[in-house]
Amino acid sequence: MPFTALHPELGRIDSTQPDLGAGLAWSQVHKVSPRVALTCPECAWGVHAKHSPNRVRFFCHDAGRPPECSLANESWEHHMLKLEMAGAVRAAGWFAELEVAAADGSWRADVMATSPDGTRRIAWEAQLSPITVEDIQARTDRYAAEDVAVCWVSPHKRPPVWLGAVPSIRVRVPEQAQAPWVVDDGLGGFSSGTWSFQEAELCQFVRWVLHGLLSPCQSLSARREVMRIVDGEHHWFRRSLWWTSRQSAEAQDAHEQERLRREEAARQRAEAARGREAQRKKREAEARARREQWLATPEGRKARQRQLELRRLKDAQVVEQRAAARRLQAREADERARRRAEAQERRARKLAAEQEREVRQQLFRRELERRAPAMGEAWWALLSREEAKEVFRTVFDAAWRREGVRVRIPPGGGAAAGFAYGVPVHTSNRLYGIVRPCPALLPLAPQLTYHQVFALNAQEAEALEANGLRADRITRLDLAAR
Ligand SMILES: [Zn+2]
Repeated sequence: MPFTALHPELGRIDSTQPDLGAGLAWSQVHKVSPRVALTCPECAWGVHAKHSPNRVRFFCHDAGRPPECSLANESWEHHMLKLEMAGAVRAAGWFAELEVAAADGSWRADVMATSPDGTRRIAWEAQLSPITVEDIQARTDRYAAEDVAVCWVSPHKRPPVWLGAVPSIRVRVPEQAQAPWVVDDGLGGFSSGTWSFQEAELCQFVRWVLHGLLSPCQSLSARREVMRIVDGEHHWFRRSLWWTSRQSAEAQDAHEQERLRREEAARQRAEAARGREAQRKKREAEARARREQWLATPEGRKARQRQLELRRLKDAQVVEQRAAARRLQAREADERARRRAEAQERRARKLAAEQEREVRQQLFRRELERRAPAMGEAWWALLSREEAKEVFRTVFDAAWRREGVRVRIPPGGGAAAGFAYGVPVHTSNRLYGIVRPCPALLPLAPQLTYHQVFALNAQEAEALEANGLRADRITRLDLAAR
């Protein structure tokens, strides 16, 4: 589906030019009768002028064309890109020829741009089919051999392998009819030590290239990996060659010069440091040699002897100091152990004494318990029957007089072993007091401490007090002792 055709008299005609590049109107080849005998420049098969549905003019092969014609096999997308590039070249004031082949057939440019003065040529190649870096480099070299620069253009979303290996760009095909085509890969800027992707409209980009504002620039090897955010994700791309401005190329050079200068400075500093280190070692070696020489003289030998002697003394001192420190530590440890043993012994002695006292007390109590009934009986036998009666009467009276309570006197004695053989007397609802407990039996009746105790007289009261009762709990009846 070529844009160009061979006219039998005018030669090459170009459907993208208003006058078909030959002073000819489209109507003079389109649907004319009789037909103009147009042929394909590639395969020489007959072609006829035609419109696409959106009014793009082109030449269509007649039926039965050779299947291998590469112009016929180009896709619609390829054609649109060629058309766009040709338009951009013309808009920049250069000539654009489509589908221009080399005289020897070694290349055929999709769009050949020629400067107004005819001195410069740049081929714009729409490269849609896959090609290796080696092959595309070889084709670039073939153009260069004829003094033709080239820019390879891919419209594929995924950048091809050769992008950034030869002078090349990727373009974004517009989604709407009137929207511009945009270069979004292959155009780069250098600043702050790194390359970055830049975008420009294809028309603008072509103008800059043709006017010499952009040139291919080799990226230095350390700067070839470039990060770019694609669809919100970070991706790294390897680009050896960028279309870039003179400023960016110079910025990269300056950056590289600065890096080399710094490396050189660092190298010189390291060398100077190595030199200083070597000097220092040399001085040390010399000093050692001088000392060895001196030590070989009689004075030197004497001095060394003295030094060795001093060192021996010093070592001996250190040994002695350490031994003394160890002895001191051992003494302190002994002292601590001795004190611990003493404290242990004191505790053991105290415990033994306490146990012995307890045993004695138990024996005493048992003996007292054994003798208690007899002692209690003897205690009350100290009083005659009358005297005993008087005692209880006095208690009764005192209770009535002082507190207005009547106490019940137990008939016929009632001495209680639990109250040291004293006689408990009760009011109607409580224990009122204990009459005449036996002082000698108090150790067996500790609960007496909480009750009122009645003593016959001062002598008995003192005896009770002496055995542990509190004086304020003891009420003296002050009856005459027998
Ligand atoms: Zn053909």
